[in-house]
Amino acid sequence: MTNLAKYTSLRVGGPAKKVVQVSTEAQIIAAIEEAGDSPILIIGGGTNMLVSDKGFDGTVIRISNNSVQAEVDACSGATLTIGAGENWDNFVQTTIDRGYAGLETLSGIPGTVGAAPIQNIGAYGHEVAELITRVRTYDREAREIKTFTNAECGFNYRNSYFKENPGRYVVLEVQFQLRIGEFSDPITYLELAKKLGVELGDKAAVKETRAAVLELRASKGMLLSQDDHDSWSAGSFFTNPIVSQQQADQLPNAAPKWPLLDGRVKVSAAWLIENSGTHKGDEVGGARVSTKHVLALTNSGNATAADIAELAKRARNQVKEVFGITLEAEVNLVGVEI
Ligand SMILES: Cc1cc2nc3c(=O)[nH]c(=O)nc-3n(C[C@H](O)[C@H](O)[C@H](O)COP(=O)(O)OP(=O)(O)OC[C@H]3O[C@@H](n4cnc5c(N)ncnc54)[C@H](O)[C@@H]3O)c2cc1C
Repeated sequence: MTNLAKYTSLRVGGPAKKVVQVSTEAQIIAAIEEAGDSPILIIGGGTNMLVSDKGFDGTVIRISNNSVQAEVDACSGATLTIGAGENWDNFVQTTIDRGYAGLETLSGIPGTVGAAPIQNIGAYGHEVAELITRVRTYDREAREIKTFTNAECGFNYRNSYFKENPGRYVVLEVQFQLRIGEFSDPITYLELAKKLGVELGDKAAVKETRAAVLELRASKGMLLSQDDHDSWSAGSFFTNPIVSQQQADQLPNAAPKWPLLDGRVKVSAAWLIENSGTHKGDEVGGARVSTKHVLALTNSGNATAADIAELAKRARNQVKEVFGITLEAEVNLVGVEI
């Protein structure tokens, strides 16, 4: 039996009962139906999951359909329909090569196109929800194809209707609407603006924006690389907590806080972790807090899933103890509790 460690960026996880690789929509649906009522786990790139050392007692379906359909016209821009299994960053690169704008700040995020709407991936001030028009899925409960418009996807910060209904919808294809153009959307992230030498709110060349994002990501170990153990992670392990104004007011002034339209406040998980006693490079067994980015928990080489879970628990408990805020995992936990 193959260990799932082979399929995840954290490189941990025990065996699955069965693993199937599917590369067309018909194969995806056939594999789901064949599994019947037994548990299934969909894996795209495996870059946002922590799988237990015991593995997964069911069928793992690895999706690699990478169909591409494009309709382009000068008025409405490019409508691109992409198979769920396409590599996300290859897709971003292709859109830029073809002269389309919109995805540049999401450069370098690992994983597949099909997983992008699940947690509404985002980085450097933008989220994929801004550009998705439709998501075509297979509804396991109704046993039929269901296509969601953007509004029906329930997109939110690192969340969606799909994530709220785990296991029910398998993403088959995602449709994007992109602009034709050489300039980015307004740069809204200070660090990126500084890197590009522009003011906040200004635009920059799409190609330069991508290059700057890739450089920033590499400097934080947030670009997957075999040679950089800091990138043997699942990205940010925790989401930035959203708290009441009252809770936010109790935090020190130095804590980065972003007010939301609904009156609540988003707080930096990285700041909370670092200021409650967990530091870059801290280790539990083979698990290590990234030496470049405190929010990424990594495999330093021989970690088990239990080591990573223990490190996550420690960081989360310290934040709770010091600031009274409970961090939520951004990473999908498969048979693991923290
Ligand atoms: C170094 C590094 C940096 C990262 N940086 C970022 C970042 O900046 N921003 C960000 O948002 N994320 C980031 N991530 C997290 C990750 O890249 C994204 O969440 C990505 O979308 C996961 O894609 P994947 O194909 O690897 O998903 P997987 O890990 O394979 O799956 C993630 C979840 O989605 C489900 N899933 C996958 N494919 C499908 C499908 N077709 N249909 C239904 N469910 C599906 C899985 O069952 C699982 O629950 C980072 C990860 C790493 C390792």
